[in-house]
Amino acid sequence: MASQFCSFRRLRCDLTPRFDAPMSPRIIHMPLSGGDRKAQAKAMRDARSIAREYFRQSIVARSIGEAKIREADRLFCDAWTNVTFWGGPTRNSPTIAQAINGERPMLWVKCRRCGREPDVDLRTIRRKPDTPVHLLEAALFCEPCSAGRKFPQRANLIGLRPEPNDPNASLQRAT
Ligand SMILES: [Zn+2]
Repeated sequence: MASQFCSFRRLRCDLTPRFDAPMSPRIIHMPLSGGDRKAQAKAMRDARSIAREYFRQSIVARSIGEAKIREADRLFCDAWTNVTFWGGPTRNSPTIAQAINGERPMLWVKCRRCGREPDVDLRTIRRKPDTPVHLLEAALFCEPCSAGRKFPQRANLIGLRPEPNDPNASLQRAT
């Protein structure tokens, strides 16, 4: 039993990859005959042109994917705003990163006492981007109403909205 354990340990030790080991360079020998040289040069040209085309396609595919993600984030923000605006539950909210990516960077809040409705720009607050925006409610309070009081005056969440000068502002329904 003891010898098996020892051999297992030795095997594991042998298989441990060494990431600090120097890589040996890949050497491609040029063919000596003229025809083979030409064939290799042509293959290299073809490979480069295929690589250029794939690279171009990868940029197009990535930009389509990013636009789709942005659209999904925007729809998620608007869905959450439509529920929150009418007093529904605020949980399952978009994250700060999703709101910014979905072009809904302004958190719309309302003071419970004076009814002021200032916007909080999510791009300027110091929170982790993966923080759901409904968790920010606990940190929000109205400065004028809280002055001179023992407890800060809280504010409610109303929704997420685009910047006032955003041309896509009409896409949102709840406002
Ligand atoms: Zn207030």
